Amino acid sequence: MEHIVIPASLRPADGRFGSGPSKVRPEALRALADTATTYLGTSHRRDGVRSVVRRIRTGLASLFDLPDGHEVVLGNGGATAFWDAAAFRLIERRSLHYVFGEFSRKFADVVRDAPFLDDPMVVEAPFGAHPAPVTEPEADTYALIHNETSTGVAMAVSRPPVNGLVVVDGTSAAGAVPVDASEFDAYYFSPQKAFAADGGLWVALCSPAALERIESLAATRWAPPFLDLRRAVADSRKDQTLNTPALATLFLLADQTEWLLERGGIAWAADHGRRAAGIVYGWAERAPFAKPFVRDPAMRSTTVATVDLDDSVAASAVTGVLRANGIVDVESYRGLDRNQIRIGMFPAVDLGDLERLVAAVDWVVEQIGA
Ligand SMILES: *Cc1c(COP(=O)(O)O)cnc(C)c1O
Repeated sequence: MEHIVIPASLRPADGRFGSGPSKVRPEALRALADTATTYLGTSHRRDGVRSVVRRIRTGLASLFDLPDGHEVVLGNGGATAFWDAAAFRLIERRSLHYVFGEFSRKFADVVRDAPFLDDPMVVEAPFGAHPAPVTEPEADTYALIHNETSTGVAMAVSRPPVNGLVVVDGTSAAGAVPVDASEFDAYYFSPQKAFAADGGLWVALCSPAALERIESLAATRWAPPFLDLRRAVADSRKDQTLNTPALATLFLLADQTEWLLERGGIAWAADHGRRAAGIVYGWAERAPFAKPFVRDPAMRSTTVATVDLDDSVAASAVTGVLRANGIVDVESYRGLDRNQIRIGMFPAVDLGDLERLVAAVDWVVEQIGA
């Protein structure tokens, strides 16, 4: 079956539709290659690299329209490392987590295992939906997730009408979905999703309240130096990181931030996402063998689309043929265990390529016989 050759007219120009790592723009990689003798292989303590970190910090402040007093903080280890750091330096005693997929579950698990924190309160929804917001006076921190990458469910970021730090996993939404800085205290993400960069880094947009919480917990609670957000804040202010960062990741993040700003920022990216969602969910609604996994259109992600296939069509057979033809990473999230495909629709992904992708899926299903 893998020898089936998809006609050229149905083949996307770029076959990368992963949900992270996601497509990196070839132009950005060429720009990186153009720095061949001046950037990679130079010290991250010197201006050549620090100026790139500065571009990231000023670029993101502008892209997210951060009010005065907010800071762009960054460090090594990705969003997964940030969960550990948040357990030490953002959650005072007890957090409340919305859990509706594998990533939001992982953060709640980190907190449950932390011996110095109370067990978290967890508000769950069946995968494929998100729970309704709640308020809980006992919570000193609300752990939100803007886009559950494992299920393709988006949930608006909004501050509950009680005290408590609002800490948001924005990893697969940041840079593509609007968010209002007054609604969060820490909005963190890794750059290998909507920011079309490489992984290994976390970025957190921090409000004055988050910065204050970091200070006060640093005065009272030990943390491993690598996870100490007070150090990360101090280093970021100097356009540095605690230890050596991946310089390619920094370059690609700076490049993509400026690329987004040139196009009209998050408003442009959100429009791209709406049009991409129109293509993919529109197709899934029409195709007799497919339907959107997320039933409520209001909860459907505009960056990661999950599409269930009919039992008569094995998703693994479809993705196998696609992969053999250079169309990669549309397999569903491994832990979800559904007959499903998952399509990354981040700003770097061309809308014409998405049209060709869904046409290619139709064609492949016809060939393998539903
Ligand atoms: C990918 C992802 C993560 C994990 O990011 P890493 O860089 O691999 O640590 C966390 N949360 C969400 C929502 C993600 O999509």
